[in-house]
Amino acid sequence: MAGQKVILEVRWASPELHCPVCGDVIFSKQGSINPYPCAHLLFTYVSDRRDWDFLSPRMKNLLGELRLSPASPGFAPWRSPLLGSLRSNDVVLCLQLPGPAEEKPPCTVAVGIHFPIGA
Ligand SMILES: [Zn+2]
Repeated sequence: MAGQKVILEVRWASPELHCPVCGDVIFSKQGSINPYPCAHLLFTYVSDRRDWDFLSPRMKNLLGELRLSPASPGFAPWRSPLLGSLRSNDVVLCLQLPGPAEEKPPCTVAVGIHFPIGA
């Protein structure tokens, strides 16, 4: 079992993003994260900063078990071992924002979503 990775090329000007399960706001139109995210949100990760903006309790535990830090060489949440340790109904959305393509990481922002089974 492993999480799935989906790359989305984002072309709209607003960074507003909603949870694909319940529709709750993840990022507002101003780009700030909802301080009370829904239960489906596992994490948000900004690759330029190599840092998390939000980590759910399950993700904090998983990172501790894997002894992973965003500062680790080659770390990205859309790569193994983290992607391989997620559940099969967990999806990492990789958002590619417009900009110069050279030497850009594959994702500008990564968002982890847990899709409930049988909901
Ligand atoms: Zn949700």
